[in-house]
Amino acid sequence: MQRLYLLRAVLVIEKRLIASGASSKSSRLIHGGLRYLEHLEFSLVKEALIDQKYLLEKYPELVQLHPFYLPIYKNSKRLTWMISLALFIYSFFSKHGQKTQKINKKIFLKKFPLIKEDNLKTVFMYFDGKTDDTALTQKVALEAKNHGVNILENTSINKINIMEKIIKLDTSEGIFKTNTLINATGAWIDEINKKFNLPSSYTIEKLSGIHLIINKVLVAEPLILETSTKRIFFIIPESKTTIIGTTERSEKNNVDDIKVNNADVKYLLNESNIYMKTKLTRKDILEVYIGTRAIIKSKNNPTKMSREYKLDLHHIGENKILNIYGGKLTSFPSLAKKVARILM
Ligand SMILES: Cc1cc2nc3c(=O)[nH]c(=O)nc-3n(C[C@H](O)[C@H](O)[C@H](O)COP(=O)(O)OP(=O)(O)OC[C@H]3O[C@@H](n4cnc5c(N)ncnc54)[C@H](O)[C@@H]3O)c2cc1C
Repeated sequence: MQRLYLLRAVLVIEKRLIASGASSKSSRLIHGGLRYLEHLEFSLVKEALIDQKYLLEKYPELVQLHPFYLPIYKNSKRLTWMISLALFIYSFFSKHGQKTQKINKKIFLKKFPLIKEDNLKTVFMYFDGKTDDTALTQKVALEAKNHGVNILENTSINKINIMEKIIKLDTSEGIFKTNTLINATGAWIDEINKKFNLPSSYTIEKLSGIHLIINKVLVAEPLILETSTKRIFFIIPESKTTIIGTTERSEKNNVDDIKVNNADVKYLLNESNIYMKTKLTRKDILEVYIGTRAIIKSKNNPTKMSREYKLDLHHIGENKILNIYGGKLTSFPSLAKKVARILM
């Protein structure tokens, strides 16, 4: 009974619609992040892979395991043995039981007839999760609603008044009072903290990334490729389209003012065309979407950026204010559990 009461007391205030932020603009992967192993972020990858298993089991209609192909070319900026080691570690941390394999080049080229053969050295195949990020986020919100959580969409906050015993939120839908305020506004977090003068231990770097939706299916399964500048990008098939992404751009503008940049579109087309037999042009693009993620900077050392998320709890009078910095779509189950533990 007590648990039900606590859940009933939760109110989510969303200024637009559920999943209108980065949670609908991702690469749609439920993954540990193979590339984070390069920066030795083992705990981040390990935790995300535990969450991946949970999400595969809990939402089988929305999260599925797929073979991901990783071709390595002679001019690759990464050494084959390093990639092989990273895949071994990734597979070791993975909980789904599917192992990494080396794939015969001929079999790969037959499966991916639009991919060039030139300079292809070797091909690996490993397993990762794919989802519909919008549908997954909406589903989780619906489940919360069914457990008694109130969700107000298209609601703006005008004022936050922190008093000794209570926090008063003045919103477009009325005034709400609470003892616990969670700031889970993703890349907007610094803007909110500044606007309402809320306590914070970190600041963020805003990194935006675009994805192209191509009007046809280019590949049979997801491909993970290297750009000419050593970045990683994906070519991911959907039922009738292909998603190519992502880019990475540091942003100074407010999140609501961040727009797709032509240079980023050109960059993704150029990088894809290095590998494609048929040249992709702007005419092949159905849609371009942009999302912005929050990467934490320590206030004491702003150059130190991490992909890890941080939970930043402040006590003011009898109130608790919790900032959620960073995080991946994949890691929301672990993050949510930690939030519940911190606030209990
Ligand atoms: C290009 C890109 C690709 C990515 N790919 C992946 C991937 O493949 N897999 C993965 O696991 N992760 C991926 N991520 C990371 C993932 O998308 C994010 O970490 C995650 O969606 C963040 O969720 P969030 O709820 O913190 O933020 P958001 O989803 O951005 O939600 C924040 C919400 O706060 C609302 N808000 C803002 N201001 C206010 C206000 N004043 N009042 C009320 N509401 C407000 C916004 O409208 C928004 O809906 C990617 C991120 C980017 C940018």
